[in-house]
Amino acid sequence: MMDFHILTLFPEMVMQGLHTSILKRAVEKEYIHIEAVNIRDYTLDKHGKVDDYTYGGGAGMLMQAQPVYDAYKAVAEKIYSKQPDVFISEGKEQRACRVIYVTPQGQTFNQTMAQEFAKEEDLIFLCGHYEGVDERVLEEIVTDYVSIGDYVLTGGELPAMVMIDAISRLVPGVLHNEESATTESFHNNLLEYPQYSRPEIWRDKRVPEILLSGNHAKVDEWRMEQSIERTKRLRPDLYEKWAEENGKAVK
Ligand code: SAM
Repeated sequence: MMDFHILTLFPEMVMQGLHTSILKRAVEKEYIHIEAVNIRDYTLDKHGKVDDYTYGGGAGMLMQAQPVYDAYKAVAEKIYSKQPDVFISEGKEQRACRVIYVTPQGQTFNQTMAQEFAKEEDLIFLCGHYEGVDERVLEEIVTDYVSIGDYVLTGGELPAMVMIDAISRLVPGVLHNEESATTESFHNNLLEYPQYSRPEIWRDKRVPEILLSGNHAKVDEWRMEQSIERTKRLRPDLYEKWAEENGKAVK
C-alpha cells in the first residue's frame, strides 16, 4: 500500500482529479491511499489567511511558513505513529518520509524518478500557489524539489497529480497486467513500439502482417526493432542513452 499525502490549498481539485478510472480502482482496492490536507485548516490567522506580501517588495503573495509547517507536522505525526521505530537515529528526529516540493525550480520529473518514488511507503507532496512558499519552511521540511517541466503553472496541484499518477502505475497491483509498465515508453530508455487493435484494415491501412502471425518470438523481435527505430527518430537523446547502455554505436 502506497500512501500519498498532498498538502494543498485546493484539496477538492486533487481529490477529484485523482479519483477516476484506474486510480479510483486502485484506491478502492487499497493498493494506494490518497489524502489531501488543506493547508488553510492549519493557519493560526483568525481570518484564515495563508499568504502575505514578500519582504523586499515584488509582485504577488507568498504562502506563509506557519500553516505549511503545521499541516506538514500533522501529516508527519500520523506517519510517525505508523512506524515509530523510524525516528530513533543518534538522538536526532528523522523525517517521517520524503517531502516533495513541486516547483519549476526542481529537477525535471521522469520515469526513473517515478520508479524510485514508487519504492516508498509514504510520500508527502507540497503544492505551492501564488508566488510560491516562504523559503524557511522549505528548508525545514523538503527533501526533494521536483518540476514537471520548464514552464510556470499557477499552482502545484497539477504537477502533484501528474507525479502521483505516474508513481501509482508502478505500485504492484495498480495495473492489471504487471507487464505493461515494463514494455512502455521510457523503460530501458526506449519508446514503446506502435500498437494496433481491431479491425485488421481501417481506411485501407493494414495491421502489420507479423502481428497476425501468432509467432511470438517474431512479434517480439519486430517490436524491439520498431522501438529502437522510433526512439532514434523521435528522441535521439534517449536513443543515445540506450545505445550506450547496450554497447551499440550511435549512428
Ligand atoms: N515564483 C515561482 C518561481 O518563479 O519559481 C513560481 C511560482 S508558481 C506561480 C506557483 C506554484 O506552482 C509553485 O510554488 C509550484 O508549487 C507550482 N508550479 C508551477 N510551475 C511548476 C512546474 N513546472 N513544476 C512543478 N510545480 C510547479
